[in-house]
Amino acid sequence: MSVVTRFAPSPTGYLHVGNLRTALFNHLIARKAGGSFILRLDDTDPERSRESYADAIREDLEWLGLTWDREERQSARLDRYAEAADRLRAAGRFYECFESPTELDLKRKKQLNMGRPPVYDRAALELSDAERERLRGERGGYWRFLLDRERIEWQDGILGALSIDAASLSDPVLIRADGQVLYTLASVVDDIEMGVTHVVRGSDHVTNTATQVQIMQALGATAPEFAHHSLLTGALGEGLSKRLGTLSLRDLRAQGIAPEALLSLMARLGSNQPVALRASLDEIAEGFDLAQFGAAPTRFDAADLIPLTRAHVQGLPVAAVRPAIEALGVPPEDAEAFWTVARENIDTLGDLGGWWALCRDGAEPEIAPEDAEFVAEALRLLPPPPYGPTAWADWTGAVRAATGRKGKALFMPLRKALTGQGHGPDMAALMPLLRRVRALG
Ligand code: GLU
Repeated sequence: MSVVTRFAPSPTGYLHVGNLRTALFNHLIARKAGGSFILRLDDTDPERSRESYADAIREDLEWLGLTWDREERQSARLDRYAEAADRLRAAGRFYECFESPTELDLKRKKQLNMGRPPVYDRAALELSDAERERLRGERGGYWRFLLDRERIEWQDGILGALSIDAASLSDPVLIRADGQVLYTLASVVDDIEMGVTHVVRGSDHVTNTATQVQIMQALGATAPEFAHHSLLTGALGEGLSKRLGTLSLRDLRAQGIAPEALLSLMARLGSNQPVALRASLDEIAEGFDLAQFGAAPTRFDAADLIPLTRAHVQGLPVAAVRPAIEALGVPPEDAEAFWTVARENIDTLGDLGGWWALCRDGAEPEIAPEDAEFVAEALRLLPPPPYGPTAWADWTGAVRAATGRKGKALFMPLRKALTGQGHGPDMAALMPLLRRVRALG
């Protein structure tokens, strides 16, 4: 049986690091097994789904290199869901309910007051045909799946043996009063009809899985393998849900985070394998194993992406960065020299702009009061740009001879006068790229 996985985002927002974990795991499982990976847009909610979000999802996945073999949209499959609903009705597993949200809320409160779990009481099953007819005239009915009140068990790819008592769950609503098919049913129908063999998703879906296993059985299908990964928390263990908006993949991309860094981190974080930068999805797939992930919440710190991005970026050959460098306005003949100078001093490619601005426009000099006289004397010995390859050696040699300073006391004030900073590129390599030295006036 060939492996089929899917990533099923709702196009109601931008993808964030939490979604990425799901997408990546499913992608890697398919890739490792030579199977196929489906991008499925769960867009049955016409109010909240947006085409622009669907475009953004594709764009983000492409940026990461998480290619998919097939795209499906739930909105194009409504007839399939209607047909499955008919089959559930015919099998006596689907029933119409009429309670309003307020009525349901009241029931729940009463149950809780009596110390009972707030499970839907199935009152709608007791309605007579006449009552049902009357209620239908007053308000639309919605549909619930009738769970078998027995234990639902599966061997979870991450959580191990799971067992959930269906008697502790409310019969899930699958079709709303306005006719909208809900995710729980649509997803089951898709997973069956698309031959999905492995479903990996967040552990917030464990209860869904229990009900979906029964719905699948009621439709005569066998459930796929399920695995539920832990949810991400912030660096201090705090919930991430509110902050996920600021951890969108497009924000990280805008910050210059490299896809390789993001993928390398997310494919190992929360597992018992160390995180290390890997250059390609193939390398990432190599050691990937769901069984090595734990159930405990996984701490995610966006700051961890910086050293990984830095390691990735610094290892790039000039050919890979030439377009980005030339786009800054660096003349093609200087691109390689500029890369050599800048690469050791950047975290992301976005930092290149700052170094080019320094070469092009010079930097505001930083001169400590106690060095003012020394620097003034040194600057009198510095000709204006352009500089040749020996400019730094020539200049510092002349300054040493004139002032007697040497070592750090010689070099540091001169570096700060030219670059405005106490650290940075090799000055001998930087000088030929300088077009302006502001300290010279
Ligand atoms: N659209 C669902 C979600 O984003 C998909 C869950 C699933 O993988 O089945 O939560």
